[in-house]
Amino acid sequence: MENKPGITDPSACTHCHVCRHNCLFLEKYKIDIGDVKELEELAYHCFLCGRCSQVCPEGIDGREIILRMRQEQVRENQGKLREKGYGMVVKEKQNYLFRNYGQGMKKTVLFPGCSFPSYYPETTEYLAKLFREELDGGIVFDCCGKPIAELGLKKQEQKIIERIEEGLREKGVEEVVTMCPNCYDFLKPRLNIKIVSIYQKLQELGIGKVIEEKLTVFPPCPDRESRELLGHIRAFLKEDPDIISDVQCCGLGGCAGKKEKDLADEMVRGIFREKEETVYTYCASCSGNFVRNGYDGTKHILLEILEREERPDTGRSVVNRLKAKYRREGQ
Ligand code: SF4
Ligand code: SF4
Repeated sequence: MENKPGITDPSACTHCHVCRHNCLFLEKYKIDIGDVKELEELAYHCFLCGRCSQVCPEGIDGREIILRMRQEQVRENQGKLREKGYGMVVKEKQNYLFRNYGQGMKKTVLFPGCSFPSYYPETTEYLAKLFREELDGGIVFDCCGKPIAELGLKKQEQKIIERIEEGLREKGVEEVVTMCPNCYDFLKPRLNIKIVSIYQKLQELGIGKVIEEKLTVFPPCPDRESRELLGHIRAFLKEDPDIISDVQCCGLGGCAGKKEKDLADEMVRGIFREKEETVYTYCASCSGNFVRNGYDGTKHILLEILEREERPDTGRSVVNRLKAKYRREGQ
């Protein structure tokens, strides 16, 4: 049975160990969410997947508690990360290095985020053309800021949101179409601009095929509980999918993979029953990471809907981001 989490006071913990038995990280260190002192030390080892919050019988939101611990550590360190090893992430994402608003002078823009253009550059290009032809729509490349927020950098998070909103408003954008579940989940409650998912937009345009076969789907962390995006995708599925639900994350959540590489790999292995299994995702970070780990049967649902064949380009993700940065209209 899963509960609706809401309590952010760890002293409500009864140490029943349910969270521990559902989390590789807590299990490794033999701690519960109520073990505050140990958890503070290990806050950056948590994948922020939310599994502990889903299973706690007391309704304790472990994910939120750990995120607040990170924020508090940054605050105590004069707004800077105390934790080592995240210099490159912060450098790339805080003032997104591959940002490109050059083709955003439109009412509706596609917002692919950073992962999708990294791994699926051809499909990104295909969708940019589709948007231009069908909607007179534009495309903007930026990072939504979620990785920075998850590092606990609250002030920087706020600045990113202000920068994105300003950039879009300057271009007269009224509607943002997200392709990444993290962008959708993160930007929708924060931006004062209409946010829709690519699946809603394709449905509105009457584009995309209905998938006949029953799929096995791994929902990404931001959609695992609400399944809002899965609801949008359902319009393209003939049958209800089989959902892989009793797992943690793809191994990339919370930037914890840097600290816990073995656990991240174990999380991936826990998702697949066999190496060749076909698992469908709707997050490019998840599909890219699964393929990078040798699970070549992974498929992104968006590509299936668009009837496109493109394997995640895991070896050239930086080059692909650079191409997005210097992309110009009509290319
Ligand atoms: S499941 Fe909830 S009550 Fe049980 S140990 Fe974890 S945080 Fe404490
Ligand atoms: S890794 Fe996931 S389940 Fe474990 S403590 Fe962090 S948020 Fe909770």
